[in-house]
Amino acid sequence: MTLRVITIANQKGGVGKTTTTINLGTALAAIGERVLIIDLDPQGNASTGLGIDRRARDRSVYDVLIGERHIRDAIMETAVPRLSLVPSTLDLLGFEQEILGARDRSYRLRKAVQALGSGADYSYVLVDCPPSLNLLTINALAAADAVLVPLQCEFFALEGLSQLLQTVEHVKTALNPELTIHGIVLTMFDRRNNLSGQVVDDVRRHMGDRVYETVIPRNVRVSEAPSFGKPALLYDMHCAGSQAYIRLASEIIQRERRLRAA
Ligand code: ADP
Ligand code: MG
Repeated sequence: MTLRVITIANQKGGVGKTTTTINLGTALAAIGERVLIIDLDPQGNASTGLGIDRRARDRSVYDVLIGERHIRDAIMETAVPRLSLVPSTLDLLGFEQEILGARDRSYRLRKAVQALGSGADYSYVLVDCPPSLNLLTINALAAADAVLVPLQCEFFALEGLSQLLQTVEHVKTALNPELTIHGIVLTMFDRRNNLSGQVVDDVRRHMGDRVYETVIPRNVRVSEAPSFGKPALLYDMHCAGSQAYIRLASEIIQRERRLRAA
Protein backbone atom coordinates (compact mmCIF):
# COMPACT_ATOMS: atom_id res chain seq x y z
CA MET A 1 0.00 0.00 0.00
CA THR A 2 1.36 3.42 -0.84
CA LEU A 3 1.42 5.91 1.95
CA ARG A 4 0.47 9.49 1.15
CA VAL A 5 1.46 12.28 3.49
CA ILE A 6 -0.72 15.40 3.28
CA THR A 7 0.13 18.43 5.39
CA ILE A 8 -2.65 20.87 6.28
CA ALA A 9 -1.03 24.29 6.55
CA ASN A 10 -1.79 27.99 6.75
CA GLN A 11 0.08 30.35 9.06
CA LYS A 12 -3.16 32.15 9.88
CA GLY A 13 -5.01 30.89 12.92
CA GLY A 14 -8.71 30.06 12.89
CA VAL A 15 -8.99 29.26 9.17
CA GLY A 16 -10.12 25.66 9.62
CA LYS A 17 -6.87 23.65 9.57
CA THR A 18 -7.73 21.50 12.56
CA THR A 19 -11.39 21.12 11.62
CA THR A 20 -10.34 20.04 8.13
CA THR A 21 -7.71 17.61 9.42
CA ILE A 22 -10.13 15.91 11.80
CA ASN A 23 -13.09 15.71 9.45
CA LEU A 24 -11.20 14.90 6.29
CA GLY A 25 -9.39 12.18 8.26
CA THR A 26 -12.70 10.82 9.50
CA ALA A 27 -14.28 10.93 6.04
CA LEU A 28 -11.29 9.12 4.49
CA ALA A 29 -11.47 6.49 7.25
CA ALA A 30 -15.21 6.11 6.67
CA ILE A 31 -14.62 5.14 3.05
CA GLY A 32 -12.10 2.50 4.02
CA GLU A 33 -8.76 4.31 4.07
CA ARG A 34 -6.43 3.83 7.05
CA VAL A 35 -5.55 7.24 8.38
CA LEU A 36 -2.99 8.53 10.85
CA ILE A 37 -3.37 12.12 12.03
CA ILE A 38 -0.26 13.78 13.44
CA ASP A 39 -1.07 16.74 15.67
CA LEU A 40 1.82 19.16 15.25
CA ASP A 41 0.24 22.14 17.02
CA PRO A 42 1.30 22.64 20.66
CA GLN A 43 -2.29 23.72 21.35
CA GLY A 44 -3.35 20.15 20.69
CA ASN A 45 -6.76 20.99 19.27
CA ALA A 46 -6.78 18.02 16.92
CA SER A 47 -6.03 15.71 19.84
CA THR A 48 -8.79 17.21 22.00
CA GLY A 49 -11.22 17.25 19.08
CA LEU A 50 -10.62 13.53 18.59
CA GLY A 51 -11.44 12.83 22.21
CA ILE A 52 -7.88 12.39 23.45
CA ASP A 53 -7.91 14.46 26.59
CA ARG A 54 -4.74 16.22 27.73
CA ARG A 55 -4.54 13.96 30.78
CA ALA A 56 -4.70 10.88 28.58
CA ARG A 57 -1.69 11.94 26.52
CA ASP A 58 1.10 9.96 28.08
CA ARG A 59 3.00 10.03 24.78
CA SER A 60 3.28 12.63 22.08
CA VAL A 61 4.78 13.72 18.80
CA TYR A 62 7.33 15.71 20.79
CA ASP A 63 8.92 12.49 22.12
CA VAL A 64 9.15 11.29 18.53
CA LEU A 65 10.67 14.51 17.15
CA ILE A 66 13.41 14.62 19.75
CA GLY A 67 14.21 10.97 19.17
CA GLU A 68 13.02 9.54 22.46
CA ARG A 69 10.23 7.38 21.12
CA HIS A 70 9.53 5.41 17.96
CA ILE A 71 6.51 6.81 16.14
CA ARG A 72 4.73 3.47 16.43
CA ASP A 73 4.88 3.81 20.21
CA ALA A 74 3.32 7.26 20.07
CA ILE A 75 0.16 6.27 18.21
CA MET A 76 -3.17 6.31 20.04
CA GLU A 77 -6.45 4.91 18.76
CA THR A 78 -9.50 7.15 18.41
CA ALA A 79 -13.22 6.39 18.57
CA VAL A 80 -13.27 6.39 14.76
CA PRO A 81 -12.43 2.99 13.23
CA ARG A 82 -9.30 3.11 11.03
CA LEU A 83 -8.36 6.57 12.36
CA SER A 84 -5.34 6.86 14.68
CA LEU A 85 -3.56 9.82 16.19
CA VAL A 86 -0.13 10.89 17.31
CA PRO A 87 -1.14 13.49 19.90
CA SER A 88 0.51 16.77 20.73
CA THR A 89 1.45 18.15 24.14
CA LEU A 90 2.64 21.55 25.29
CA ASP A 91 6.20 20.15 25.29
CA LEU A 92 6.14 20.96 21.58
CA LEU A 93 6.55 24.62 22.46
CA GLY A 94 10.16 23.85 23.37
CA PHE A 95 10.96 21.88 20.22
CA GLU A 96 12.40 24.73 18.21
CA GLN A 97 14.79 25.85 20.95
CA GLU A 98 15.95 22.36 21.72
CA ILE A 99 16.58 21.26 18.18
CA LEU A 100 18.17 24.42 16.79
CA GLY A 101 21.67 22.97 16.77
CA ALA A 102 20.73 19.70 15.10
CA ARG A 103 21.66 19.41 11.42
CA ASP A 104 18.59 17.31 10.66
CA ARG A 105 16.22 19.65 12.50
CA SER A 106 13.95 20.12 9.48
CA TYR A 107 13.76 16.39 8.75
CA ARG A 108 12.72 15.03 12.12
CA LEU A 109 9.10 14.43 11.13
CA ARG A 110 10.05 13.05 7.72
CA LYS A 111 12.31 10.48 9.36
CA ALA A 112 9.58 9.58 11.82
CA VAL A 113 7.03 9.04 9.06
CA GLN A 114 9.51 6.96 7.09
CA ALA A 115 9.97 4.85 10.21
CA LEU A 116 6.33 3.79 9.92
CA GLY A 117 7.72 1.39 7.34
CA SER A 118 6.74 0.63 3.79
CA GLY A 119 4.40 -2.18 4.65
CA ALA A 120 2.49 0.70 6.19
CA ASP A 121 -0.83 -0.03 7.80
CA TYR A 122 -1.79 3.49 6.76
CA SER A 123 -2.79 4.86 3.39
CA TYR A 124 -2.92 8.51 4.52
CA VAL A 125 -0.99 10.54 7.06
CA LEU A 126 -2.53 13.97 7.70
CA VAL A 127 -0.41 16.52 9.55
CA ASP A 128 -2.18 19.38 11.37
CA CYS A 129 0.11 22.44 11.57
CA PRO A 130 0.38 25.28 14.08
CA PRO A 131 -0.64 28.78 12.93
CA SER A 132 2.91 29.81 12.10
CA LEU A 133 5.63 29.21 9.53
CA ASN A 134 7.97 27.94 12.24
CA LEU A 135 10.22 24.90 12.36
CA LEU A 136 7.26 22.62 13.12
CA THR A 137 5.52 23.68 9.92
CA ILE A 138 8.79 23.33 8.01
CA ASN A 139 9.07 19.78 9.37
CA ALA A 140 5.49 19.11 8.24
CA LEU A 141 6.21 20.41 4.72
CA ALA A 142 9.50 18.52 4.49
CA ALA A 143 7.66 15.31 5.41
CA ALA A 144 4.78 15.79 2.98
CA ASP A 145 3.95 14.57 -0.49
CA ALA A 146 1.47 17.41 -0.79
CA VAL A 147 0.11 20.38 1.08
CA LEU A 148 -3.56 21.20 1.51
CA VAL A 149 -4.35 24.83 2.32
CA PRO A 150 -7.59 25.83 4.04
CA LEU A 151 -8.67 29.41 3.33
CA GLN A 152 -11.45 31.04 5.29
CA CYS A 153 -14.11 32.83 3.23
CA GLU A 154 -13.40 36.28 4.62
CA PHE A 155 -12.16 39.57 3.25
CA PHE A 156 -8.46 38.93 3.79
CA ALA A 157 -8.56 35.31 2.61
CA LEU A 158 -5.78 35.68 0.05
CA GLU A 159 -3.60 37.76 2.31
CA GLY A 160 -0.75 35.67 3.58
CA LEU A 161 -1.25 33.03 0.89
CA SER A 162 1.69 34.24 -1.19
CA GLN A 163 3.94 34.01 1.86
CA LEU A 164 2.78 30.45 2.43
CA LEU A 165 3.33 29.56 -1.23
CA GLN A 166 6.83 31.07 -1.03
CA THR A 167 7.58 28.91 1.97
CA VAL A 168 6.34 25.86 0.06
CA GLU A 169 8.65 26.79 -2.84
CA HIS A 170 11.55 27.23 -0.45
CA VAL A 171 10.97 23.84 1.17
CA LYS A 172 10.67 22.31 -2.27
CA THR A 173 14.02 23.73 -3.38
CA ALA A 174 15.94 23.18 -0.19
CA LEU A 175 14.41 20.12 1.46
CA ASN A 176 11.74 18.22 -0.44
CA PRO A 177 11.75 18.40 -4.26
CA GLU A 178 8.68 16.11 -4.50
CA LEU A 179 6.40 18.48 -2.58
CA THR A 180 3.27 19.57 -4.45
CA ILE A 181 0.22 21.69 -3.69
CA HIS A 182 -2.66 19.28 -3.34
CA GLY A 183 -5.27 22.01 -3.29
CA ILE A 184 -6.94 24.90 -1.59
CA VAL A 185 -10.17 24.36 0.32
CA LEU A 186 -12.47 27.27 1.07
CA THR A 187 -13.93 27.02 4.56
CA MET A 188 -16.67 28.64 6.65
CA PHE A 189 -18.65 29.72 3.62
CA ASP A 190 -21.77 31.64 4.59
CA ARG A 191 -24.37 31.71 1.84
CA ARG A 192 -26.30 34.54 3.50
CA ASN A 193 -23.25 36.74 3.25
CA ASN A 194 -22.49 38.26 -0.17
CA LEU A 195 -18.86 38.68 0.78
CA SER A 196 -18.44 34.91 1.10
CA GLY A 197 -19.51 34.45 -2.52
CA GLN A 198 -17.17 37.21 -3.69
CA VAL A 199 -14.28 35.61 -1.86
CA VAL A 200 -14.96 32.26 -3.54
CA ASP A 201 -14.97 33.92 -6.99
CA ASP A 202 -11.85 35.89 -6.18
CA VAL A 203 -9.86 32.92 -4.92
CA ARG A 204 -10.95 30.79 -7.89
CA ARG A 205 -9.89 33.55 -10.28
CA HIS A 206 -6.45 33.78 -8.69
CA MET A 207 -5.77 30.14 -7.94
CA GLY A 208 -7.70 28.38 -10.73
CA ASP A 209 -8.12 24.64 -10.54
CA ARG A 210 -5.96 24.41 -7.46
CA VAL A 211 -9.16 25.24 -5.58
CA TYR A 212 -11.34 22.25 -4.77
CA GLU A 213 -14.89 22.24 -6.11
CA THR A 214 -16.10 21.45 -2.61
CA VAL A 215 -16.63 24.48 -0.39
CA ILE A 216 -17.09 23.87 3.36
CA PRO A 217 -20.09 25.80 4.73
CA ARG A 218 -20.11 27.55 8.06
CA ASN A 219 -22.10 25.15 10.17
CA VAL A 220 -22.81 25.30 13.88
CA ARG A 221 -22.73 21.49 14.23
CA VAL A 222 -19.14 21.51 12.97
CA SER A 223 -18.10 24.03 15.61
CA GLU A 224 -19.95 22.19 18.42
CA ALA A 225 -18.47 18.78 17.72
CA PRO A 226 -14.97 19.33 19.24
CA SER A 227 -16.41 20.15 22.66
CA PHE A 228 -17.81 16.60 22.66
CA GLY A 229 -14.43 15.23 21.64
CA LYS A 230 -15.92 14.03 18.37
CA PRO A 231 -15.40 14.73 14.68
CA ALA A 232 -18.46 16.44 13.15
CA LEU A 233 -18.95 13.28 11.13
CA LEU A 234 -19.59 11.28 14.32
CA TYR A 235 -21.48 14.05 16.08
CA ASP A 236 -23.91 14.68 13.22
CA MET A 237 -23.18 12.84 10.01
CA HIS A 238 -26.09 14.47 8.20
CA CYS A 239 -25.26 18.13 8.84
CA ALA A 240 -24.15 20.24 5.89
CA GLY A 241 -20.59 20.49 7.21
CA SER A 242 -20.13 16.74 7.55
CA GLN A 243 -21.56 16.15 4.09
CA ALA A 244 -19.16 18.72 2.63
CA TYR A 245 -16.17 16.94 4.21
CA ILE A 246 -17.35 13.66 2.69
CA ARG A 247 -17.42 15.34 -0.74
CA LEU A 248 -13.96 16.82 -0.12
CA ALA A 249 -12.61 13.36 0.72
CA SER A 250 -13.92 11.87 -2.50
CA GLU A 251 -12.55 14.81 -4.49
CA ILE A 252 -9.16 14.25 -2.89
CA ILE A 253 -9.22 10.57 -3.70
CA GLN A 254 -10.03 11.39 -7.31
CA ARG A 255 -7.08 13.81 -7.48
CA GLU A 256 -4.88 11.12 -5.96
CA ARG A 257 -5.94 8.64 -8.63
CA ARG A 258 -5.14 11.16 -11.36
CA LEU A 259 -1.73 11.85 -9.81
CA ARG A 260 -0.96 8.15 -9.62
CA ALA A 261 -2.02 7.57 -13.22
CA ALA A 262 0.11 10.50 -14.44
P1 ADP B 1 -7.24 26.48 12.77
O1 ADP B 1 -6.84 25.08 13.08
O2 ADP B 1 -6.83 26.93 11.40
O3 ADP B 1 -6.80 27.44 13.82
P2 ADP B 1 -9.93 25.62 13.44
O4 ADP B 1 -10.17 24.41 12.60
O5 ADP B 1 -9.57 25.38 14.86
O6 ADP B 1 -8.85 26.55 12.75
O7 ADP B 1 -11.22 26.54 13.31
C1 ADP B 1 -11.30 27.77 14.01
C2 ADP B 1 -12.67 27.89 14.68
O8 ADP B 1 -13.69 27.91 13.69
C3 ADP B 1 -12.99 26.73 15.59
O9 ADP B 1 -13.72 27.21 16.70
C4 ADP B 1 -13.85 25.82 14.74
O10 ADP B 1 -14.77 25.07 15.52
C5 ADP B 1 -14.58 26.83 13.87
N1 ADP B 1 -14.91 26.27 12.56
C6 ADP B 1 -14.05 25.69 11.68
N2 ADP B 1 -14.70 25.29 10.58
C7 ADP B 1 -16.01 25.61 10.76
C8 ADP B 1 -17.20 25.46 9.99
N3 ADP B 1 -17.18 24.88 8.77
N4 ADP B 1 -18.36 25.90 10.51
C9 ADP B 1 -18.39 26.50 11.73
N5 ADP B 1 -17.33 26.67 12.50
C10 ADP B 1 -16.14 26.23 12.04
MG1 MG C 1 -5.58 24.37 14.62
